[in-house]
Amino acid sequence: MQFIQADPTLENYWRGIILFGRNVASYKFALAHALYDVPRSGSDLILLDDLALHFSQHLCRHLVDAPKQITSQNSQFIDACKRFNAGEIDQDTLMEITVRRGFNNVIDAFHTVNQAPIDKRFFLDERKTSKGIRLTDNFYYLTERQQYRNLMPETEARWNLVEQGWAMGVSRSLIAVEYDLGSQLLFSRQNQRRITITSCRDSLNGYQKGHCFYCYAPISVVSGEDALADVDHFIPWKAQGAVTNLHGVWNLVLACQCCNRGEQGKFARLPSAKLLQRLHNRNEYFINSHLPLRETLIRQTGKTATARGSFLSQSWNAALTNVIFHQWEPPAAGPERF
Ligand SMILES: [Zn+2]
Repeated sequence: MQFIQADPTLENYWRGIILFGRNVASYKFALAHALYDVPRSGSDLILLDDLALHFSQHLCRHLVDAPKQITSQNSQFIDACKRFNAGEIDQDTLMEITVRRGFNNVIDAFHTVNQAPIDKRFFLDERKTSKGIRLTDNFYYLTERQQYRNLMPETEARWNLVEQGWAMGVSRSLIAVEYDLGSQLLFSRQNQRRITITSCRDSLNGYQKGHCFYCYAPISVVSGEDALADVDHFIPWKAQGAVTNLHGVWNLVLACQCCNRGEQGKFARLPSAKLLQRLHNRNEYFINSHLPLRETLIRQTGKTATARGSFLSQSWNAALTNVIFHQWEPPAAGPERF
């Protein structure tokens, strides 16, 4: 997978799993969250009994606002979570059903991306011998990475997007995710009503591998951290008369504060042609990540990679020739990552 190969760190393998799965249920997200919850000091063997508590809690939490968590019609496990939320069954019964039904497919399929297993494993399936899964060194190394703190909000944002995609369902050609500048949230419209989906920052970060779009400095999506990223319009807002739909996700990137508003920052200048090519690459990651960013991007910029490339070039040229006469590119703060 190009996304992983371009920067094969443990966090990008993990992101491959979270961002690029063709999901038929949200179980991968729930399992990822359950693993974030695991105490680091305990045994590397996680019994299904213990995993079940966290796994089902995250699903129950999401079911409150998003009843569609699976693309097939029936699931005894999801039904059990709904009955638990409604007070019809107790915790013990939910645990018993989760251990028996909840992990079918998800433990097997967790490491599968694009129909093939990735070559790093974060846990081993020991259900037959030890009634659980065993965390590998890769998992523990992952938790020590600088990027680890970003993975939880990224997983949550991805989960929110996918379940909203399923809720919008019927006509995929109508699916559109939009950006609200004031709240910095992504939303969609249903029957003229705005449905808030999730944080724009958390949604974009994984596709940039947790680094500034322009200079590749590490960024954070965790509130209060010094490196907190800014959501930035690649083609500046100033070009709105010459370029349409500047608030579209195709034009939104995360930038470090230095690039966005530092002394040598971008402000109302136009990123260079080299950076435009990078935007195209980033947008093609959206295309590979399925519902609903893929559908949104196709609607906004074209059905084929060539059409999307031309759309970007035309928009960039229109901004350059009609409105913004100065190009900008910062010095790189690290190796190329996407
Ligand atoms: Zn930067």
